[in-house]
Amino acid sequence: MTSLSGSVPLQSPFSVSFEFFPPKTPEMEESLWRAVQRLEPLAPKFVSVTYGAGGSTRERTHRIVGRILAETTLVPAAHLTCVAATRGEVLEVADAYWAAGVRHIVALRGDPPAGEARYTPPPGGFPWASELVAGLRARHDFEISVATFPEGHPDSISLDAELDNLKRKIDAGATRAITQFFFDNWTYLRFVDQARKAGIRVPIVPGIMPVTNFAQMARFAANAGATVPRALAPLFEGLENDPETRKLVAATVAAEQCQQLARAGVTEFHFYTLNRADLTYAICHILGLRPCRADDGDPAPVGEASSSAAGERR
Ligand code: FAD
Repeated sequence: MTSLSGSVPLQSPFSVSFEFFPPKTPEMEESLWRAVQRLEPLAPKFVSVTYGAGGSTRERTHRIVGRILAETTLVPAAHLTCVAATRGEVLEVADAYWAAGVRHIVALRGDPPAGEARYTPPPGGFPWASELVAGLRARHDFEISVATFPEGHPDSISLDAELDNLKRKIDAGATRAITQFFFDNWTYLRFVDQARKAGIRVPIVPGIMPVTNFAQMARFAANAGATVPRALAPLFEGLENDPETRKLVAATVAAEQCQQLARAGVTEFHFYTLNRADLTYAICHILGLRPCRADDGDPAPVGEASSSAAGERR
């Protein structure tokens, strides 16, 4: 493993975005909010909030996005899916976001609702993300990001089909692709190369998943079509009841992944935070990102991070 020290400049050339999911309970919401406050001073480009399978979190997603908009300096991006809704219903949600001041949508097909193994296009709805992008583009001047899958989407017949689909989404008006998480950087870099050859010019931002719980991540990966390298499992072996050491290992692995990507020229990262700040914060720190004060943009001591974030402005 190469050394982490001395390989990143203090003034970070990197920009980051953070993904959260809408919490189910008041306790989980508290924990989400602590994560938001801790990460806010790192001045991410945007923070996104997911939309539960089948639109099951519609209200919660809307509420969290609204709170981010009202109570922080962060730019929220609301995830929106095609699942279990007509075109009119989806566009109504988009209208409500626009009216609330949200200007960035992550437009997705969506996962099948719980209990359904396969995706079926909803009657009267948008069948695919590309059509949702076109619908949103015609409705409001949103910034639109979309998903992409460097190892191919599980439903795609080939990587070429994945690239064709990404191209359709960009041609329909999306301006950024965010990847499914991956662990093999060469797979991602090859995919970006192929995308450029296919005429796709927008940023293809790597989605980074810091692994805190190996078994849970392996389940996510199996559903998402992401390969888990053989070398990863042994790093977490024997740490099932040792969350502190697991965190240290996870931060090292993800920081190493980001640094390798940075050496290959990547300057933008999207972190799947799982509503926790600690690992994402540590990795961003290693990338050279430092907290800024809300008032003057200067770095603030880490201990002041929460008071210089939403706390002071409320
Ligand atoms: P699409 O781009 O519509 O593609 C899905 C599949 O359909 C592909 O195999 C594609 O090749 C195929 N396809 C597309 N168009 C056509 C066509 N015209 N004819 C035939 N086949 C076609 N899920 C959620 O439920 N909520 C979220 O908040 C959420 N956030 C996500 C964020 C990111 C960054 C990522 C990477 C994924 C996210 N997902 C989320 C998961 C995502 O919704 C699923 O992986 C879904 O199965 C695919 O979504 P998509 O937008 O890529 O779909």
